[in-house]
Amino acid sequence: MKLKIAIQKSGRLHEDSIKLLKECGIDINNGVNKLKTEASNFPLEVFFLRDDDIPQYIEDGVADIGIVGENVVLEKQKQVNIVQKLGFGKCRLSMAVEKSFDYTGVQDLQNKRIATSYPVIVADFLESNGITAEIHEISGSVEIAPGIGLADAICDLVSSGSTLFMNGLKEVETVLKSEAVLAANHNLQPAQQQLLDKLLFRIQAVKKAKNTKYILLNAPNDKLNEIISLLPGMKSPTVLPLAEAGWSSVHSVLSENEFWDIIESLKAAGAEGILVVPIEKMVI
Ligand code: ATP
Ligand code: ZN
Repeated sequence: MKLKIAIQKSGRLHEDSIKLLKECGIDINNGVNKLKTEASNFPLEVFFLRDDDIPQYIEDGVADIGIVGENVVLEKQKQVNIVQKLGFGKCRLSMAVEKSFDYTGVQDLQNKRIATSYPVIVADFLESNGITAEIHEISGSVEIAPGIGLADAICDLVSSGSTLFMNGLKEVETVLKSEAVLAANHNLQPAQQQLLDKLLFRIQAVKKAKNTKYILLNAPNDKLNEIISLLPGMKSPTVLPLAEAGWSSVHSVLSENEFWDIIESLKAAGAEGILVVPIEKMVI
C-alpha cells in the first residue's frame, strides 16, 4: 500500500516540493522527464504533473494528495481538502492597471475589460464587490494585455511586482494571498490516511524547526534569573556551569519573530557570547 502524491513537474513549486520531501527524510530520485517515481524509504509514489491538473487528479483519487498553489485549488473548484499550508510559493493574485490609469478604488473597474488566467476567482471578487466587468481569459503573458489594447486591467500572480513594473503597470488590489498547500482527496482509505498523518507529522516538525532557533549564551551567575526570565523556551532553559567560576551557559529555543527583540534585552541584561543556530527538526 502506497500513498500517491502529485507534485509540479517543472516550474516554481517543483524544487521546493522535492526539498520538502527530502527534509522529511524521504528519498526520491528525481529523474528528468519522468512521469512518476517511488521513494526508496517511505511508501510514497510521486507523480509529476502540470500544476493545473493536480486538483482534478486528487479529486478523482488518481493521486491521494498533492502539492499545489492555493490559487490553483480555488480556481479549479475541485473538491479537495487543504490539509496543510507549506510556507513556500508565496504570492498574491492582484489587479493591476497601466500607470497612467487614475485608479481610486474597485468601482473604477466597472464595465472595464480584465485579462486574467483566473476567471473564476476574478468573477468571485467582482461579484462580492458589486462590480460588473468583462473578463478575458488568457493563459499566459497576461501582463502585456493592457499594452496591446486587449484589456484595461489585468489580474495576475505577483511576488515582487517587478514584472508588472517592467510592463508599465501598477498593482491596485490584492484579490487573494496564496502559498503552496498540501491538498488531499476527501475519501482516503484508512491506510492512506495513516500514511498521510505520518507525512504530516514530519512536515510539521520541519516547519516548526524553520521558525525556531536554538540559542546559547553565557551569563554571569548573578544575572541568571533575569536572563532566564527573558527566554521563552519549550520548557525551562538548560543551565550548565562554565569552567570559569561565576558564569553559566544557558541554552534555549526561540522563534524567529521574537529573535531580535530578545537578543537586545539579553545583551542589556549582561549575556555574552550569544550564538543562534538553526534547528533541523523539532518535535514537541
Ligand atoms: P505548469 O507548467 O505546471 O502549468 P505554471 O506556469 O502554471 O506551471 P508556475 O509559474 O510554475 O506555473 O507557478 C506555479 C505556482 O507557483 C503558482 O500557481 C503560484 O501558486 C506559485 N507562485 C509563486 N510566486 C509566483 C509568481 N510570482 N508568479 C506566478 N506564480 C507564482
Ligand atoms: Zn499551470
